Amino acid sequence: MGRVIGIDLGTTNSCVAVFVDGEILVLANSEGGRTTPSVVAFTESGERLVGQIAKRQAITNWEHTAVAVKRLIGQRFDAPAVVDTRSHVSYEIVPSPTGDAWIRLRGRDYSPPEISAWVLKKMKQTAEDYLGEECNDAIVTVPAHFNDAQRQATKDAGRIAGLNVLRIINEPTAAALAYGTSHGRDGLYAVYDLGGGTFDITLLQMSDGVFEVRSTSGDTFLGGEDFDRLLVDMLSKEFLEAKGIELREDRMALQRLKEAAEKAKQELSSATGTEINLPFITSGPQGPLHLIRSISRSEYEGIVEELVEKTLGPCRDALKAAGAKTNDIDEVILVGGMTRMPLVQARVGEFFGRAPNREVNPDEVVAIGAATQGGVMRGEVADVLLLDVTPLTLGVETQGGIFTPLIPRNSTIPITVSEIFTTAVDNQPFVEVHVLQGERALVRDNVSLARFQLTGIAPAPRGLPQIDVSFHIDPNGLVEVTARDLGTGRETAVQVNAASGLSEADIYRIVEEADARRIDDESQRELVELRNKAEGLMYTSERSLQEYASVLPASDQEAVLSALAYCRQVLDQHMGVEEVRGALSALEDAAYRLADAMYANLGGQG
Ligand code: ADP
Ligand code: MG
Repeated sequence: MGRVIGIDLGTTNSCVAVFVDGEILVLANSEGGRTTPSVVAFTESGERLVGQIAKRQAITNWEHTAVAVKRLIGQRFDAPAVVDTRSHVSYEIVPSPTGDAWIRLRGRDYSPPEISAWVLKKMKQTAEDYLGEECNDAIVTVPAHFNDAQRQATKDAGRIAGLNVLRIINEPTAAALAYGTSHGRDGLYAVYDLGGGTFDITLLQMSDGVFEVRSTSGDTFLGGEDFDRLLVDMLSKEFLEAKGIELREDRMALQRLKEAAEKAKQELSSATGTEINLPFITSGPQGPLHLIRSISRSEYEGIVEELVEKTLGPCRDALKAAGAKTNDIDEVILVGGMTRMPLVQARVGEFFGRAPNREVNPDEVVAIGAATQGGVMRGEVADVLLLDVTPLTLGVETQGGIFTPLIPRNSTIPITVSEIFTTAVDNQPFVEVHVLQGERALVRDNVSLARFQLTGIAPAPRGLPQIDVSFHIDPNGLVEVTARDLGTGRETAVQVNAASGLSEADIYRIVEEADARRIDDESQRELVELRNKAEGLMYTSERSLQEYASVLPASDQEAVLSALAYCRQVLDQHMGVEEVRGALSALEDAAYRLADAMYANLGGQG
């Protein structure tokens, strides 16, 4: 087995780590970031951008920039979660031919696993660049709350990215694993994870290298984006009252507001006040209008307090499910960028009656845990065992649209339960079984996973055939079903009609397409690298030019300026590899003149 990389595929940011020579390394991407925005965009010329460069151009290309795709993965188009997302994202969400939520970018429809695959590919590439070898095996994390369809779709994303996903583990479990193996203290941990889109709370017992999840709860629709939205709403309401213009109806203004709200939030984690400054946000009858507003940390906390409070409900649920009290908790671990907010740390500390542990980096701990699990699977990390639980109750539909539970939530996985099914009419050749996940009493309020048909039942009076169906939840939290006709002892065929997701044929087609486009992707990559290099050199040349203008002959100054202008033009017009290479080398030549002048000047002084 080659190296196993650990990937935290986040709603907002992703992170990759790997176990090398007894040590876990968090790897920096080609732009130097230890986390990579989970953003994919298509430019006007059809160029595909992933990560930081995709995020950076979101303001001007919002319609074709896919963010927070994890909120759509494994979801039906008409699911409440998707309806909510549709009103908050700037790209178009469309129903797939089978009714899943897909994304339309530049006139083409993509499934969420396909979009996520590009992010995963970037993480894979990051690892390969560092290790200098191919990395095909991976551990990928998902929120503890993910149901079977969402896990399946995440696994599909891995396959499309050319990764062999050895295991899917829950994010909080990964965090505890990372923390536990490095700090090694036994006890009951509470892992509080507040990210960009989701909130999870997990209680975990660690003793002698065994990590046993006791309970998990959370809210798949509560995260940093909601904090940003509250501030955006407040700012635009104020603006509407003062200027009579609704900024939220202007996509460009809305996008700028969102970014400013996020930036203010982050600044207020370390500063006690900040200013939101958005010149030319829109224009009115009197000309351009600006939005300038200072905000203090305490005012901000007043606005978002309700969201922080909202995380405590699931914390109570998790305690209750584990049969524990707050003072049974030995350690509180914070995960996710939002836990850098002082109010979150304070409220969580108050709730659990102890200050949260600050030893682990909340942005990296999940990927580190995934890489640790990779080490476990390669036999490099010994004496660690993960016992996870299923986050949702698994059951079947019975007469009258009733949901009958088979495996209750918080059961330790892997787990298998069996149920006997029979026929309702004489000589019935098949039995249909409808499998669902959820906590509600009625079928219609839960998530439909699949319908199974048990076929090939021998003719018999009704009620006589006995079909033993076993429902298995594997260590990844994925559901498998097998059936046996007790009368004949034969395995009964199970025909699965998954309620959502990509078919094998879809995945095959997408992978083939990706293979066919590999050459494109390679040159794409070269282009991106050249562009980055050009941006960097432009920045430093502009600065040196300002600094040394006085000692530089006018002709050299002009040469640098014109090389800079040409470079800018090539980049802005999204020209190809050859043009960028040409512009870059011209700029390099010009930059040498700058350097000569600088050193000549130094020599003159010395
Ligand atoms: P995810 O797990 O969803 O990918 P992350 O754990 O990366 O998300 O968290 C992203 C969220 O954390 C974003 O909403 C971001 O604005 C927020 N965030 C990042 N840094 C800070 C900070 N210093 N203060 C407050 N919020 C922050
Ligand atoms: Mg996360």
